[in-house]
Amino acid sequence: MEKIVLGIFAHPDDCEIVCAGTLSLLKNAGWTVHIATLAPGDKGTAEYNREDITRIRKAEAAEAAKLLDATYHCLDYEDVYIMYDRHSVNKTTSLIRQVKPSLVFTHNPSDYMVDHETTSKIVQTACFSTGIMNLEIPEAIYEPVPFLYYCDSMEAKDILGRPIYTTMFADISSEISVKEKMLTCHASQRNWLLTHHKMDEYVHSMKRFGEQRGKEINVAFAEGFRQHLGHGYAQNNFLKEILGDAITLVKN
Ligand SMILES: [Zn+2]
Repeated sequence: MEKIVLGIFAHPDDCEIVCAGTLSLLKNAGWTVHIATLAPGDKGTAEYNREDITRIRKAEAAEAAKLLDATYHCLDYEDVYIMYDRHSVNKTTSLIRQVKPSLVFTHNPSDYMVDHETTSKIVQTACFSTGIMNLEIPEAIYEPVPFLYYCDSMEAKDILGRPIYTTMFADISSEISVKEKMLTCHASQRNWLLTHHKMDEYVHSMKRFGEQRGKEINVAFAEGFRQHLGHGYAQNNFLKEILGDAITLVKN
């Protein structure tokens, strides 16, 4: 297994909020990190036009990725209009075949924004499609299907307000400063909330949520996950095998 991990999310800063701590743990364990977003965050502004905010946010995402020596990829779809269709599935499968990760992280299947849920579905199919012939993409197939993990949804609740199903937590207490530094690279988002709330709500809310998840396993900060275990996917908990004691399994 190549020590390559790929986080695929809808928008810049999603990855930082839900799994940057765990990616940092993996980097420390010798893994190469890639971070991708399907859209560039082109609706995340109250002041810039689409072209400008796209350029700004791609640069912010690349800067954040650099803190993990990671490569940032943008698939250049649009915020709010991420669609599950042959084009997005093909493009995401292409990315996976180029990066060749053995471990993939994406959004929770139920989350506050449809872009997140659609990305989750696209990534599920794209992982499964890495070894399928006759897709309309040039990259060669590769196997096995990467291990796929779903991150926490916003506030760890589904769209009906019920707690999401979480099966493991990563203790990211040692990585919280890296996670915070990565998040603050997204200055356009941080400043937007600073203006709106008159306080650093961007960083505060990330830390509050990390603390809330940490309480579940009696550590300072944690990130929650569950593994995709459908047909065709390996059933062993690869993340636990790699990170050992940093991962605590929980019953729901
Ligand atoms: Zn998002």
